[in-house]
Amino acid sequence: MRQFIFILSALLLAFNCPAQLTNPQSKEITEKFFPDPEVDINTPAFQKKRGFTDYEEMMAFINERLAAHSDVMSLSFIGKSQKGKDIPMIVLKRGKGSDKLRVWLQGGLHGNEPASTEGLLYLLDQLLNNPEHAYLLDRLEIAIVPMANIDGSEKLTRDSHNGLDLNRDQTKLMAPESVSLKQAFSDYQAHVALDFHEYRPYRRDFTHIGEWGVTNGFDVMFLYSGNLNVAEELRNYTKETFVKEAGSLLESKEITSHAYFSASDVLGAVEFHQGSLNSRSSATSYALANTISTLVEVRGIGIGRTSFKRRAYTTFLVGLSYLRTAYDETAEVKQVLARAKAKPTEAVVKHQTPVTEVSMTLIDLESVEKKDFKVRMKDAWQTKAQVSRPRPRAYLLMPEQAKLAEKLKILGLKIDTLNQSRSVEVERYTVEYYLQEAEKYEGVHRQRVSTSITRIVKDLPAGTFVIRMDQDRAGLAVEALEPEAPNSFVNYDVLHTEEGAELPVYRYLNKEAL
Ligand SMILES: [Zn+2]
Repeated sequence: MRQFIFILSALLLAFNCPAQLTNPQSKEITEKFFPDPEVDINTPAFQKKRGFTDYEEMMAFINERLAAHSDVMSLSFIGKSQKGKDIPMIVLKRGKGSDKLRVWLQGGLHGNEPASTEGLLYLLDQLLNNPEHAYLLDRLEIAIVPMANIDGSEKLTRDSHNGLDLNRDQTKLMAPESVSLKQAFSDYQAHVALDFHEYRPYRRDFTHIGEWGVTNGFDVMFLYSGNLNVAEELRNYTKETFVKEAGSLLESKEITSHAYFSASDVLGAVEFHQGSLNSRSSATSYALANTISTLVEVRGIGIGRTSFKRRAYTTFLVGLSYLRTAYDETAEVKQVLARAKAKPTEAVVKHQTPVTEVSMTLIDLESVEKKDFKVRMKDAWQTKAQVSRPRPRAYLLMPEQAKLAEKLKILGLKIDTLNQSRSVEVERYTVEYYLQEAEKYEGVHRQRVSTSITRIVKDLPAGTFVIRMDQDRAGLAVEALEPEAPNSFVNYDVLHTEEGAELPVYRYLNKEAL
């Protein structure tokens, strides 16, 4: 029965039935767990009864503030959406000098998650107009990209215009928006970065739990990286300082939070996953760029405008909390990031996460109460290295691999080139196992490989690209260039190969500088 109801509501949604018919959330659940807060929010969506802030309304809202606050606010456009709309980036900065801590705030990367944009516009207005927050700009410089996926936001669809999911595109960089956003992010060199999203609280998998199914009861979930190529101190500091502080502020407003989890069907049983490992998504991609990074998931997809004020306010509060923590911890943040880049010695190519049984609090739809359920869980925080190699001193790319070098530059990596040919000892990859997937994933037929590594003496021509591993964002090079890594250029067929092939990527491990 519950599956039937779920399928019925999915069908109604597919045929564009009015929201009140398809919204799976009962009034009782909204009133009991997610009432709107008593705040006035002056952003465009709250000036109308239906829909969300569109691009024109957002630009008008931004331009009004720009006219009144040009002393601290500037506006630039970092690129165009596929349909030709300029992507705005706002910078708030008081005075000159570059010693301030830089915070990156992004929303709307998925176009059907409107509270992210709305909450950031509210935060922008509060930072400019509420004197209570003015002190933050004494120590912080703040970049805001409120609508990263404009074409998707205009149509309330998750993906960009050509069907690519921009948060699966952070290493392969196939969508033009991904290139613009990553270039702007790399240039900005943020110390702290937040990417705001919304999540779907009613899921097909959840119909298997309890008598009538369950819904996720947390207002917000924090996704931070457990990837082992991110320095352990940086991972822990993000969680124990920034995430924790945000949780406390939310709790004081009776807004609930949890580490981000999702669920999937594994052989007929629901399995939960918690945390982030994949560099295809912003939480880990930004962390690998040596940034304190969190992807923020507010409870919202699939419930229309229900609790929209609460969702926008929650987004605002998380942003505000991160700014306050960054202000309080300015010196510590810089030290943690400086230590974090002081080189892990391993390059973790594959992760393995154990399945454990944990207790999870969810809203039971039968009793409309929060209840604890025993669930099977893979927690990224418990992950171990499955395949790892010593970190090389540098990765080398043959001169004809300019496309790969270009993507690495956009990811923020510094790349040198050899100005004369050299003969040096390197490690070579040979593809021993090769499988190209028949089905497309995000626009590509992914390649799965395993390689053997041989030490050889290689003649490197002039023009060989050198990616030194003593730089801030070296972890991104590991994820992009180790062929077996799950989000590597080989995996995404950015670098096509075949069984038996020698890859045009080499590992340089000698002590002497190249
Ligand atoms: Zn999202």
